[in-house]
Amino acid sequence: MANVLVFTELHDGHVKPVTLEILGKLAGQSADVAVIGDIGADQVAELAKFGAQNVHKIKGANLDKYSPEGYTNALADFIKSKSYDYVFAGATSMGKDFLPRLASKFDAGLASDVTNFTMDGGVFAGTRPFFSGKCLAKVEITGPKPHFVSIRPNALGMTANPTAGAGAAADAAGNAGEIRAMIKEIVKAASTKTDLTEANIIVTGGRAMKNAENFKILEQMADVLGATVGASRAAVDSGFAPHAMQVGQTGKTVAPSLYIACGVSGAIQHLAGMRTSKVIVAINTDPDAPIFTKADYGIVGDLFQIVPVMTEEFKKLLG
Ligand code: FAD
Repeated sequence: MANVLVFTELHDGHVKPVTLEILGKLAGQSADVAVIGDIGADQVAELAKFGAQNVHKIKGANLDKYSPEGYTNALADFIKSKSYDYVFAGATSMGKDFLPRLASKFDAGLASDVTNFTMDGGVFAGTRPFFSGKCLAKVEITGPKPHFVSIRPNALGMTANPTAGAGAAADAAGNAGEIRAMIKEIVKAASTKTDLTEANIIVTGGRAMKNAENFKILEQMADVLGATVGASRAAVDSGFAPHAMQVGQTGKTVAPSLYIACGVSGAIQHLAGMRTSKVIVAINTDPDAPIFTKADYGIVGDLFQIVPVMTEEFKKLLG
């Protein structure tokens, strides 16, 4: 059995779902959670439900806002005071930012953007996509411990019947150390929707949307489904959607349960960002569009006719 620390990010006071995915998968290991700052009792209870033994709330000056240096320094000190074999975090924007820095403080190996793993005998063995998802590599980490692992959100899925942990919450002193670049203010995006990288359902529009205004029909479907709207690079380059919505090689990598591609051809660079989606639905007028080779369900037809009909049907189904 391995001693594992799972770092959790908070979003509006809630732990990010990827933390619970990781904890569920770590059943059988001894797993603690570290959070920078405070966390409510309900969130501690949620972490305990998924197996957290201890929840360490690391607090200190200059840790109220995220900074890669501050978080790295505070976590490094904390980790040195314990004896963890592994440190896990989500491969979110934040996780991708600070985890390599943290691993380098320990001269330790990092397996990044892992989509599945086992812990047989307490030893990590993971899988991660390479070459735009065209092949899967097996990854193992050697060298000094702790070893570091980042997990792609939504890739593992939520464990249905997790094994509960003690969930003992305690404060720990955190030292942010020297911070040379500091975030002064975080301006929230106008949208309150879940970030693409963590969304469970995504409705994406391609060049066929023709303009930004037409994305409203995708927003309407997304509202009914509780989904987040994405865009292809052609749609972004044409000014129909902001770059933050771009899915693909030069956009975001996503792994939702359901991905609905509307008027997207399925270029290799787009597939690179969404091919690990669990179920792919494609709507395209061209029966030979490459997206259909990856789709679980394909609808050949005009999205401007099909999307509104689907939205109405979803409304009936979901009340
Ligand atoms: P198109 O390829 O023009 O496809 C539009 C599709 O809509 C067609 O299949 C057409 O049949 C269909 N259509 C037309 N009208 C309708 C209608 N009324 N109803 C239904 N279907 C209709 N692309 C990305 O998406 N993400 C990336 O991150 C990305 N990174 C890249 C990086 C590099 C280095 C390069 C070179 C390219 C990258 N691209 C990326 C671009 C990529 O190669 C494609 O050009 C792009 O994905 C095409 O976008 P699209 O499918 O929306 O447009």
